[in-house]
Amino acid sequence: RTVFVTGASRGIGAAIALDLGRRGYDVGLNDIEAQETKATEVADAINAMGQKAKVFLGDVSDKSACNEMARAFLAAFGQVDAIVNNAGILIAGEVDGLAEAHWDRVMDINAKGPFLVIQAFLPAMKVRGYGRIVNIASIGGKHGAPEQAHYSASKAAVMGFSRVLAQEVGSLGITVNCVCPGIILTDMGRVNLEVASVRAAWQDKTALARIGAPEDVAGPVAFFCSDDSHFVTGQSLNVDGGIVLS
Ligand code: NAP
Repeated sequence: RTVFVTGASRGIGAAIALDLGRRGYDVGLNDIEAQETKATEVADAINAMGQKAKVFLGDVSDKSACNEMARAFLAAFGQVDAIVNNAGILIAGEVDGLAEAHWDRVMDINAKGPFLVIQAFLPAMKVRGYGRIVNIASIGGKHGAPEQAHYSASKAAVMGFSRVLAQEVGSLGITVNCVCPGIILTDMGRVNLEVASVRAAWQDKTALARIGAPEDVAGPVAFFCSDDSHFVTGQSLNVDGGIVLS
């Protein structure tokens, strides 16, 4: 089994890549050029498990970079079984003063990125009549918090896109699902956790009474990548420890 994971140098993406490596997948790890060292460390750890792993550097919001990464991945791995669109950014800011450039950047990476990566790999999945596409959205795309309206919009966009793509490619043996993490302790997640009282409030809202770890997201992603989920498509699954949102 082969998988291409975007934004895989750290946080949730690295946890997903390592988990799929442990489950026997050969893994292509994407991140931007600045993260080459960290991405290579994750690839080395997967190689040490006996699986093939290779780094593909490129910005997921750049169409030609996505096409080139897909070409290079298929040349190196022969086929693609699964894609995990995990790369994402969060730039906090209230709508009132939000810079247009920040809106564009968040949309370009979080919403257009998955579209471009999928478009680059879809022909190979169609030819084989098989594919698993997993998009990392967010509970923020269903509810959201102040200063994250543009982030919420980008994640809601991914969920809508996934529901329609699932209908377009379902008869070809390709499933498309979203995983929606809650509050997960990563470099990005810390934005929501900087103030102690806010962190405590999130923990209180969570049925399992703790903030999530990147590894908590990996199992549900592996389920959607596997054949155990072969009759599940177009879904958006919360992986948030049971956050009760009023
Ligand atoms: P993270 O720690 O910031 O990691 C994201 C990774 O994606 C970084 O290595 C980042 O590199 C990379 N990346 C950013 N822009 C990219 C681009 N254009 N092309 C390729 N790679 C790019 O974030 P995380 O918390 O693990 O989040 C992973 C995913 O889960 C995101 O889609 C996020 O929206 C979602 N999520 C996270 C949480 C949470 O609480 N942490 C909750 C819900 C959803 P640089 O930063 O160096 O650019």
